[in-house]
Amino acid sequence: MNKPYEKETYFALTMDPVHIGTGGYRLGRVDNTITREPGTNLPKVPGTGISGVARAFTAMAIQSENPMIPKKMKYQRPSREITKKDGTKEIVYDSCAGKGGEKGDGHCGEPDCEVCVAYGFSKDGNSFQGMAQFFDARILFFPVYSMLGPVWITSESIMREFNIAGATLSDKERFKRFNASLQIPEDKLNLGWLMLEREDGEVNLTSLPSRTGTSPVPTTILKREDGEVDKFLYVPQEIKDRLVLVSDKLFSRIVNDNLEVRTSVAIDPATGAAVDGALYTYEAIPRATVLWFDVIYNKPENFRIKQDGVDQPIKHDKADGEGWKWIKENVEKGLRLIEFMGVGGMNTRGMGRMRISGGGLNGK
Ligand SMILES: [Zn+2]
Repeated sequence: MNKPYEKETYFALTMDPVHIGTGGYRLGRVDNTITREPGTNLPKVPGTGISGVARAFTAMAIQSENPMIPKKMKYQRPSREITKKDGTKEIVYDSCAGKGGEKGDGHCGEPDCEVCVAYGFSKDGNSFQGMAQFFDARILFFPVYSMLGPVWITSESIMREFNIAGATLSDKERFKRFNASLQIPEDKLNLGWLMLEREDGEVNLTSLPSRTGTSPVPTTILKREDGEVDKFLYVPQEIKDRLVLVSDKLFSRIVNDNLEVRTSVAIDPATGAAVDGALYTYEAIPRATVLWFDVIYNKPENFRIKQDGVDQPIKHDKADGEGWKWIKENVEKGLRLIEFMGVGGMNTRGMGRMRISGGGLNGK
């Protein structure tokens, strides 16, 4: 089968509370509410937020792989001479890390640029959509405090969207456990303020069938050491041992009642002091939440990049037809750094770090 693209599914485990305001990936943005899915009202991390930081981190990773090229990243070419307002001339380097702009500064737009090809560019009125397309990260397992300690909830439609059948409830007001080893005294469990009774039976993680026969994650990479396919291979075992299935309606209520809410104070950047009366609260996806998202890697062999008026093929270091692997490697260099540098606003306040797994991030 010769598809024009390849899809990878990634998991994101939040290491900190994650706050993504509706403004997208601008770092340091202050906003009270987080981005939500319109239909379900569930918090999400928009794909643009992930691709924005991944772009900057890919650029950063490639710079650190090339430390011998000071102030001129491997992809910062060609350098350009600009004339400043006072008539003096200066050499500038394009940094492909940022968002780019109308004037085209910032993106080199070269057909072999690891950053511009993967994430797109706009230069001299030319714009090119990146070869990697990011989809929104949606909640898969959400941590809730209970009398048994933390448990992670998920819902019927989340499992369905993840392309898994068989995770169903007959009584929508009850919950079902995933693992018989999760001991629940008297079959009652409080999820935050909500007390629920258990429905008989378990949702068996390893024998869950795929809804359409194809898993979102290729089953070849989901084989455990004992040979069984585990659709949540990269989700920590402590989480998988404490999974609870609830109905969609209850899921949305429980999530929205258990978001992290913090209070902070606005700082005047000019004086460094607190702004009078500028106390504000903001919500965030709590730490230890598991989200999932897809990235589509288009095959660069099907695209051309215009350079000086001439269409050029995209240059990569893989075999013909496998250029998407080059895109993926470069994107994953950026995704990997989200664990250390985070997404969204308020990173300086210890927020936003997520450990990304799946794809090539697990040494498969
Ligand atoms: Zn570039």
